[in-house]
Parts: sequence; structure tokens; C-alpha cells
Amino acid sequence: MNTETSLPAFEWPTLEKGWVWLCGAGPGDPGLLTLHALNALRQADVVIYDALVQEAILSWAPQAEHIYAGKRGGKPSAKQRDISLQLVDLAREGKRVLRLKGGDPFVFGRGGEEAQTLVQHGVPVRIIPGISAGIGGLAYAGIPVTHRDVNQSVTFVTGHDQSGDTPSSLDWTSISKGSQVLVIYMGMKNIAQIAQKLVSAGRALSEPVAVVANATTPHQRVLETTLGAVVADVEAAGMEPPAIFCIGRSVLMRQVLDWQGQAAGEAPRDLDPLGRGRPAESA
Ligand code: SAH
Repeated sequence: MNTETSLPAFEWPTLEKGWVWLCGAGPGDPGLLTLHALNALRQADVVIYDALVQEAILSWAPQAEHIYAGKRGGKPSAKQRDISLQLVDLAREGKRVLRLKGGDPFVFGRGGEEAQTLVQHGVPVRIIPGISAGIGGLAYAGIPVTHRDVNQSVTFVTGHDQSGDTPSSLDWTSISKGSQVLVIYMGMKNIAQIAQKLVSAGRALSEPVAVVANATTPHQRVLETTLGAVVADVEAAGMEPPAIFCIGRSVLMRQVLDWQGQAAGEAPRDLDPLGRGRPAESA
């Protein structure tokens, strides 16, 4: 197989010296990178990357210096301010800087803060979005984040605040009532509290929940459970972060849309899990 990752013909932008491109790397599978990200990897002098960025993606920038700036819950880690200032320093040294973050840089990734610091220091920036785990990761598990029969809105929620606690500023009652489907990032540590708050606010114990860990990677694991059983089931299954929690009836669609299971030879469990009847030939 050709391992050379060439770009199709197009007027690709040039990563100029002294610039920082703040770029999403997607949720894991290197194939979910954008072409702008690949173009950036090709040109960078230095790549500053986060914990969830896959090795294969970094290997597409063999000419560049690779600097790890990962932050994982509980482990000693680079401080956000230090990372932002390091980006400023590298740009001022005249480097072509690629800041590569998991998923989308502006979705619970503190990309906005980094970009703001760069702009405040007069460093020119380009933003390259990526596929966020809460959308693409669910798709790899066969869960559509919106589905016409289920939800007309979706709410993305962070499961912990800066101190690591359940975000106290969040109004869980409103969140619970406001949207049929909730997608929770960074929820593993506080899932017991989150589930309890949602049930107190009126969500059913029987509501479907999916937990998708290491989504889109070879280590992807999917747990299907309910709001009432999620805590015990996550523990029994030994699910580890990074994981996305999806709460809502769209999880049922996995029974028909688990395309990875089907590729491995499993039959769909239910062709019509929402009980809406078969779709007409033309809608
Ligand atoms: N900017 C990222 C999110 C960063 S916050 C994005 O847009 O996806 C980190 C959280 O994202 C993790 O705690 C987890 O909830 C989620 N996450 C990131 N990658 C993931 C993956 N491959 N599988 C499951 N969850 C993932």
C-alpha cells in the first residue's frame, strides 16, 4: 500500500513562518482528519499535540519536531497558560507551528483560550475544525446524534468543571428538560452524580444510554445500558476514559445501525428499533 499521504490538487494554503494553525485531529481514526489538517502536517516545523492524538497522525509530519502537551485527568500535565505561551514563543521564533488537538479544537478543547492568547500577542492564527468525538464517535458506534423520530435538538455537556467536579454552574433540570438527547464529554468520573441529577429532574431510569470509549480507534468499546444501570454497568464492564455518554432514544438506533458489528458479520438486532414502521421507498 502506498503510505505516502499526498494531497489532491487544490490551492492549499501555505503555513507561513510565525503562524500558528490550531487544528482538530478528529476523535482518533486518522482517516477522520481533514485535508487542511494533512496539509498542515506536511508543512509544520513543530507540532504541539494533545494526549488523544494518534501516533499515526504524528507520523505524517516526520520533518517536524513533536512536542507533547497532553493533559489527562489526574496526571501531572502542562498548564494551559504554559501551552498557550509556548505557542506564542515558537511563533515568535519564526516557526511554522501546528497546534493539534483531539476532536474539534473549539469543542471542550480550550482551543478558544489558546487562540485568544495568540491573537492577544499578535500571533496570526488559522483555525482548522475537526470531527468532534460527540458526533463522529457516536457515528462509529452506529448512533445518529440527531434522528428525525427522536430529537429536534441535542445538548453537548461537559461532565466536569475546572476543579474536576460536576459543573455546579450547570442547571441540570433545564438540561434534562431541554433536549431529548444529551451528549456528555468527560463524564466518566462524575457519571453517578450526573445520572442521579438527571433522574431527579425527571428523566426515566429506563432511558437508553450508550457509553462509547476510545471511539473510532481499534480499542473502541460500546456499552449499551440505561440511566438506572449505567453506573453499575460501566464499572462491571471496566469502561475507561476517554468516553462519550449519549443519553436518549437515539441510542436504540444502534440496534439497526451498528455498521461495524455488521461488517464483522453480525446481523442487525432490530430493523425498526423505534417502532416507526419501515421507511417508504421514497419519502
Ligand atoms: N475537543 C474534543 C473534546 C475534548 S474533551 C472533541 O471535540 O472531541 C475530552 C473528552 O472528549 C474526553 O473526556 C471524552 O469525553 C471525549 N473524547 C475525545 N476523544 C474520544 C474518543 N476517541 N472516544 C470517546 N470519547 C472521546
